[in-house]
Amino acid sequence: MKLEQMYEGKAKKVFATDNPDECIVSYKDDATAFNGLKKGTIRGKGEINNRLTNYFMKKLEEEAGVPTHFIEELSPTDTLVKKVRIVPLEVIVRNVIAGSLSKRLGAPEGTELKCPVLEFCYKDDELGDPMVNDYHILAMGWTDKETLEKIKEYAFKVNDYLKNFFSKIGIDLIDFKLEFGITSGGELVLADEISPDTCRFWDSKTKEKLDKDRFRRDLGDVEGAYQEIIKRVFSHE
Ligand code: UDP
Repeated sequence: MKLEQMYEGKAKKVFATDNPDECIVSYKDDATAFNGLKKGTIRGKGEINNRLTNYFMKKLEEEAGVPTHFIEELSPTDTLVKKVRIVPLEVIVRNVIAGSLSKRLGAPEGTELKCPVLEFCYKDDELGDPMVNDYHILAMGWTDKETLEKIKEYAFKVNDYLKNFFSKIGIDLIDFKLEFGITSGGELVLADEISPDTCRFWDSKTKEKLDKDRFRRDLGDVEGAYQEIIKRVFSHE
């Protein structure tokens, strides 16, 4: 049962339930970029991101051994999840240079990386989510060493699983962002979402962008890109 709203983020709302260890995530069509400076709506995004996230959370638990917050899909836009305390880090994995890394290293987008790159950003909108390393994380006490090592292990497992999955449907997984949380029982689980809002997907042949960069960069047919991803993911079965 959906009780009071606990939180409203840029792309999702979170509601309490009658179980203190569970909450309901409700996906919105709202889109923002550049730390909230650019705002818009992507029609159908809420449903697509909810269904894609749940599909991958289930697969990651069953096939990659990565525990997640997923419990049950309640409707096209709503999902029951374990209530977690979010570790305040954006965990970014990159296979190909794009976005902020391209600017930072002065290397063109599309440059292959010789091995995956793992980055952490401290989740703080006012600070613009600054990039941090292991030392900052431990020195600030955002999580402990053991949990940090588990986060790294899970992040690479997610990358291996998703990269392989998407390669089979003709999509290059360029990079993505994950968030992790701690349940009331103290378990580290993958939380948040896995969707074209949080991953860069390029068509393997044409290198066409099929993700939120179409919105960020005004490339047009944003809805079509999200639909193409869900169509290819579900036709894979
Ligand atoms: N990303 C995200 N939320 C953020 C920042 C990044 O989901 O607040 C994702 C983004 O979609 C991309 C990856 O993380 O798949 C790496 O993003 P990058 O650091 O290149 O930042 P951007 O260029 O998106 O600002």
